[in-house]
Amino acid sequence: MIPATTRRENVDPSSIERAAGDLGHIRSHGVRRLLIYCSAGLYCHHSAIVDTDRWPDETVLLDLDRRAACTKCGMIGADVRPNWSERPPPEPDRRTVAAAMKEIVVVCLAIEAETGMVDSAAPFVVIPFQRPHRGGIYHNEPDVTAQLRPGERQARFEAEWSDGEWKFGKRVADP
Ligand SMILES: [Zn+2]
Repeated sequence: MIPATTRRENVDPSSIERAAGDLGHIRSHGVRRLLIYCSAGLYCHHSAIVDTDRWPDETVLLDLDRRAACTKCGMIGADVRPNWSERPPPEPDRRTVAAAMKEIVVVCLAIEAETGMVDSAAPFVVIPFQRPHRGGIYHNEPDVTAQLRPGERQARFEAEWSDGEWKFGKRVADP
């Protein structure tokens, strides 16, 4: 004899969801078919995927459980579940994607050897904080160098890693 508390812990969570579910709910998740297993289970192994289009949204899965008859062994009663595997993949959260791609990098201008002055026309070094191996030397980025004040040697920029190189955004405040 199994104590009641243990039995409750062993309840399959999908069966709770199933009990509350009608076809309208399942359809709202993009699932239009059901997976039906014969209640004879071990002895029969028969299962089928059925289209739900013939039933209205109010159809409760538990009612289908009771009414289903196995086409193989004739047993009445079946285990009916939404065919979750056909559920479409979730839409990526755009804000998360943007946050994952934008990083802060340090742009460091070269110093002219002869004069010791900052040379804003020379190639500059980029140092990413999060992924230092993506550091590199860039040139012909007037939009970046224009955001540095005369004589200023380095600044932080928002940047996005794309096609193997950094695309620079706006300058951000120094910490
Ligand atoms: Zn069967």
